[in-house]
Amino acid sequence: MLKLDFHPSGRHFLQIPGPSPVPDRILRAMSLPTIDHRGPEFGALGRDLLTKIKRVFKTESPVIIYPASGTGAWEAALINTLSPGDRVLMFETGHFATLWQKMARRLSLEPEFLGLPGVEGWRHGVQADMIEARLKEDTHHELKAVCVVHNETSTGVTSDIAAVRRAIDAAGHPALLIVDTISGLASADYRHDEWGVDVTVSGSQKGLMLPPGISFNALSDKAIAASAKAQLPKSFWAWDEILEANKNGYWPYTPSTNLLYGLNEALDMLEEEGLENVLARHQRWAAGVRCAVEAWGLEIQCQDPSVYSPVLTGVVMPEGIDADEVRKIIYERFDLSLGMGLGKVKGTMFRIGHLGDCNDLTLIATLGGCEAGMKLAGVPLKGSGVTAALDYFAAHPMHRAG
Ligand code: PLP
Repeated sequence: MLKLDFHPSGRHFLQIPGPSPVPDRILRAMSLPTIDHRGPEFGALGRDLLTKIKRVFKTESPVIIYPASGTGAWEAALINTLSPGDRVLMFETGHFATLWQKMARRLSLEPEFLGLPGVEGWRHGVQADMIEARLKEDTHHELKAVCVVHNETSTGVTSDIAAVRRAIDAAGHPALLIVDTISGLASADYRHDEWGVDVTVSGSQKGLMLPPGISFNALSDKAIAASAKAQLPKSFWAWDEILEANKNGYWPYTPSTNLLYGLNEALDMLEEEGLENVLARHQRWAAGVRCAVEAWGLEIQCQDPSVYSPVLTGVVMPEGIDADEVRKIIYERFDLSLGMGLGKVKGTMFRIGHLGDCNDLTLIATLGGCEAGMKLAGVPLKGSGVTAALDYFAAHPMHRAG
């Protein structure tokens, strides 16, 4: 454990873009005694959960729940639908898109990695026109899937998945559409059925406000049909046995019972607030945080305002300033964790998470920690981001629908 030079009283500020803070209500739900995962009480919980989870993905199709981190659900999406040597089209939006592409290679797939040149690609979303052009060239339909990240957690850029669907349709191409919304679900608008997604991959530790440890594959009929022919080896991840057991609310192996209690509570919380209110609250926070970055006179990592992420904001440091040094000062002085720059943007930016169980004042405190820490680190700031965000939040009260 790192020794701080002060006693950290009060709560730690966990403002990384996931894991996000877990609400007390969820922690309490998870603290209930573990029950028999083959007993009647569990079956009732499982059936209820498997119905409710569909509403968050906006799907009528089954959603698989794995006792695994998001990486496991990434792998499950690929190996359930594809065969060794299959070509897949992936798009470089940042670190997570890059890791997924590496995984595809390790699984003996043949990924083609499209993207804008250099770091440009890490400042913009998926370019649907590039996908359309590539698919139109693929007249023999050798590309079996298009895989894209909806909310690129390493950069704070969201991609337009409806536009990717339109691109696939415009090319008249039969490729599956596989989407990672590990950090987007329940924070950024997401519509599995309407956008014609075949497999959506997600995780527990972001917008769902749970600890890490469970992850998801939302399916389509086309994905289920593909899984019957897919030849990559699979056992633990295989959808068929899970779908069969899920019919009665069970799993073929021991599920993460207590995390599922937490998930049940999280889904109730989202329904009580209304998913659209939850999404609006994230948009509003993100806008307030961007006002702060602008007032500081710093750059936002995302360069296309139409795809600013409602989940997190990447703050670029001026030339010559090491973002990790700034984060270290902020952590040690204010007990505030911020996301580090990953991969190509390591040391050039840090990430402020504004997802899940936050409120205006936790974000104001977070911005206060950033502002004071940047001053201590010698970052030249134009003005007060805290004041700008306070003004934004005051001028834009939250209106709840429903
Ligand atoms: N994809 C995205 C967009 C992510 O943000 C993450 C984790 O932060 C992952 C994949 C990997 O998920 P996990 O770390 O839960 O395995």
